[in-house]
Parts: sequence; structure tokens; C-alpha cells
Amino acid sequence: MERVIIIGSGPAGLTAALYTARAGLSPLVISGNQLGGQVSITSEVENYPGFPQGTTGPELVELMQKQAERFGARLLIDEVTEIDLRQGSPFRVKTYAEDLQAEVLLVATGASPRRLGVPGESELIGRGVSFCATCDGFFFRNKQVVVVGGGDSAAEEGLFLTRFADGVRVVHRRDQLRAGEALKRRAFANEKMSFIWDTVVEQVLGDGKVEGVRLRNLKTEQVSDLPADGVFIYVGHDPNTELLRGQLAMDDHGYLTTDRRMMTSVEGVFAAGEVQDPIYRQVASSVGQGCAAGMMAERWLAERS
Ligand code: NAP
Repeated sequence: MERVIIIGSGPAGLTAALYTARAGLSPLVISGNQLGGQVSITSEVENYPGFPQGTTGPELVELMQKQAERFGARLLIDEVTEIDLRQGSPFRVKTYAEDLQAEVLLVATGASPRRLGVPGESELIGRGVSFCATCDGFFFRNKQVVVVGGGDSAAEEGLFLTRFADGVRVVHRRDQLRAGEALKRRAFANEKMSFIWDTVVEQVLGDGKVEGVRLRNLKTEQVSDLPADGVFIYVGHDPNTELLRGQLAMDDHGYLTTDRRMMTSVEGVFAAGEVQDPIYRQVASSVGQGCAAGMMAERWLAERS
């Protein structure tokens, strides 16, 4: 029997681990399929306080993990396959390797990149279609790539891709970026980046590997093909809550609902980070939520005993 199981090892999960570890609860953190979560595949992090020169996602995750482990958090590299909250605490959590129980459960499963859902996209993943510039950018040295989306991720990862690619064409469905001012300025100033406005990708073209994208201009309805070697898709995220459907209250988009104590609709189940936050979704806000959830989990256990 574990006292605290934390599902997810991103900034929210690792911060909750740090706080519950320092409270002497020896939390077990289940990594999920990506140790460190989304930030671990983020190239540069420039807006997390304490790093005036910026840092990288992997570095930040490593530091957070080490800090939590220093106080007794334990990391299980595994994926959760089943969660059973029906009997209340203790809650049952199955992974590929383990059948576990915990007095308190802290859900920090984050979110996953959303797909466009157009023909060619799924078929060509790993063959030119990517959701991770940090992982795959290197393969596009001296090539032409398309970035889809207009948010911070599209701007930031597009900028990262200019280190390798000769040209980065950003295809966005509106005529202005949603990205923040600092990123926008850098993106517009970069000579390798150009923008195709009011346009959507209708199909990823290629036989065995990406050869281009079919575009449709939403204002003129004109359809055209743009040759490209890679397509990087940054059109937002969906919360990782499939295993909790029907067990915890969620909003219409599948984000967990929590109260001011970060508690979900089930007593003793807390949530933190992007899995319950469709608004801020920053490393800094996830860290804050992980801290709050960790503190409240500890208090809940203390009051109960
Ligand atoms: P996002 O802010 O939700 O942006 C998604 C973008 O994709 C939007 O521009 C959206 O268009 C577009 N889009 C959505 N569905 C689409 C579709 N089906 N077809 C074409 N385009 C579509 O997501 P994000 O950029 O991944 O950022 C997620 C969160 O992380 C945000 O809160 C962001 O601030 C944060 N983040 C911050 C940083 C940083 O501060 N350095 C870096 C990365 C991410 P519309 O604009 O028309 O809605």
C-alpha cells in the first residue's frame, strides 16, 4: 500500500512529488510514456523563473526529478493501464508491471498533441510528420519544412527548426498569431521563417515519406500544393483523461474539474497541471498547481488519520 501515488512526471507531478516527499510521504511517481512530460521535448524554456539565460526542457526535468528524489520520491518507469476509484480510498492503479494501491492519488497526466485529422497525417508520422521539433528537427538539415498552427508552440518550435531547415513555412488558419509578443517578434524577424495566413492543411502529401501539403485558403477557397520535406504540427493539446472517463468530473473538453484545494470530484483524488488546466498551461503554472495539490494531499491524509 502506497500513501501517495502521483501519475505523471511532468513539472506538476514532479513538484507534487517534491512537496509530498518533503512531508515524509515517500510518494511513488509513475512516469507515463514520456518521462518529464511535454516540457521534456521542448527545446528552449525562456519563461521559467530562476533561469535568466533560459534553459532546455530536458535539463529542467532532470533538475526537478533529482530534487524530488533527494527527499525520498521514487520514480516508476511505467505506464498506467487502469485506474479504479469506485471503492474510494485506497485507490487501485494498474500499470503494465504492477498492481498498486494508494491512500491518495494525484493525477498529473498532462495533455497530448492534437492531430489535424487530415489524410496522410497518421500514415506519415515518423516519415516526415512530427509533433516534436526537438526530437526530429535534426533530420531536416537544409530541407524545407511546414509548421502548422499559430500558438506559442508553433512559433517557438518553428524558430528552433530554423537552426536546421533552410526554410520554415508556418501555415495558420487566421491572419495573426496567437503566440505571445516576444516569440512573435523573434519569429517575424527570422529570415528563414515565412507565414501563410488564412490557410489550412487539407492533406499531407507523399508516398512513404512527406513530399508536401495540400493547402486551402479559407478566404479565397483556392487549393494549392506546397512541396515540403517535413510537417510539424502544433495545433494544441487534449488532456490525458481517457482512463478516468466516467470516474471523475470533467468539462466538455475532457479537462478534470478541481476545487480550490485541487481536489477532483472524488475525495482523496487530486489533480494538477495541464490535465485540469485549459487556461495557463505553463511550466510555471503547472509547478504552482503541483505544489498546491501536494500540500493539500498531505493535509488530507493528516486530517484523515
Ligand atoms: P494553442 O495556444 O492552443 O495554439 C494552437 C494553435 O493551433 C492556434 O493558433 C490554433 O488556431 C491552431 N489550431 C487549433 N486547431 C487547429 C486545426 N484543427 N487546424 C489548424 N490550426 C488549428 O497551443 P500551443 O501553441 O501548443 O500552446 C499550448 C499552451 O502552452 C499555451 O498556453 C501556450 O501559451 C503554452 N506554451 C508556452 C510557450 C512559451 O511561453 N514559451 C511555449 C509553448 C507553449 P487559432 O489561433 O485560430 O485558435
